[in-house]
Amino acid sequence: MKNIYLDYNATTPLRDEVRDAIIKDLAVYGNASSMHAAGREARARVEEARGAVGALLGVPAKTIIFTSGGSESNNTVFQTMRSLASDEHGAPRPRGRRGFITTAVEHPCVLNSAKYLESLGYEVCFLPVDEYGKISMDEFKKALNGETLLVSVMMANNEIGTVQDIREIARLAKAAGAFMHTDAVQAVGKIPVDIPDLGVDYLTMSAHKIYGPKGIGALYIKEKAPLFPLIHGGHQEEGMRAGTYNNMGILGFGRAAELAKSGLADYRTNMGALRARLRDGLLSRIPHVKINGHPSDMLPNTLNVSFPGAEGEAILLSMDLEGIEASTGSACASGSLEPSHVLLAIGAGPELAHGSIRFSMGLGSAEADMDYVIEKLPPIIERLRKMSTLRA
Ligand SMILES: *Cc1c(COP(=O)(O)O)cnc(C)c1O
Repeated sequence: MKNIYLDYNATTPLRDEVRDAIIKDLAVYGNASSMHAAGREARARVEEARGAVGALLGVPAKTIIFTSGGSESNNTVFQTMRSLASDEHGAPRPRGRRGFITTAVEHPCVLNSAKYLESLGYEVCFLPVDEYGKISMDEFKKALNGETLLVSVMMANNEIGTVQDIREIARLAKAAGAFMHTDAVQAVGKIPVDIPDLGVDYLTMSAHKIYGPKGIGALYIKEKAPLFPLIHGGHQEEGMRAGTYNNMGILGFGRAAELAKSGLADYRTNMGALRARLRDGLLSRIPHVKINGHPSDMLPNTLNVSFPGAEGEAILLSMDLEGIEASTGSACASGSLEPSHVLLAIGAGPELAHGSIRFSMGLGSAEADMDYVIEKLPPIIERLRKMSTLRA
């Protein structure tokens, strides 16, 4: 049977070159903190990888720390800010900079970090978004004030692919004296991410979204920006993140970063063409289809489509029987019967939010795969819509 993986925003397979690099260096067992030759050999690989990750983002290696992934990087930033917003007893400060601004469409690891702080009494503003998934600059300016400590806005949305204007958001945040963080996990490797141009203080990325291994990620920290460790222990990562270096993960991440950098232009062209082909095919073959996201400021690989009258989980199961693997939203949200918080935030309403599918293409996707989906999906939608009218 066919196997067409269209869920690259959930995770990507290891690239062959990354797998080969990991296998080749599997025997490098030294503790990268040890001073002897075995340690130095491991350390050299770690630092080379750090350079490659920095180069992908346009920043020096020393501004990058390795973490266990995007979730940890995001949590580290929020917990650092929590310390800054606390009094000497660890409670929210009664005055001074202590406010948080984020958005209603963040990945759960930011959203729930922010909700946790809110539950502890910190002030958090969750900016709404418009029908395309963009935050309103007017709302943002209204929320921003001299007490704002952190602005955290994702660069690209994992569910609908909308890209925010991080450079302008960072400019306003910095002008107000706040720290600026962006979760760029979905943006890195898909669109240009040049930190000096963006002007952020913190940026999160993850290896397994760019064809690297799972369980490894990075956090960019601008020089002199504060950072407190989430994990206390040894002196690794300049004391900012304890724990023996994950040699294998780190070197695989480095190789994936190099390849993401050299392949970016081709990636954008190829993904853009696949996305347009799938979108146009679905629009011409299926009535009453709504494409979610922004008309132009979009990830090139992400196509989120609503099929009113058909239920998302049922569409997924039917597609799976045809060998098509997609998602109803974020992998983290599937399994819960709650409609996607992102689709609700763009005003989709429960019916559309329950009847939406995210197709996310990647390096293994081909035109023929798009054509296969365009052939298989229309009868599925027709059948499910008929069933739901019968039930109603
Ligand atoms: C996948 C993802 C994360 C989480 O990264 P992990 O490395 O899986 O912890 C965070 N933010 C966004 C936008 C993501 O897509």
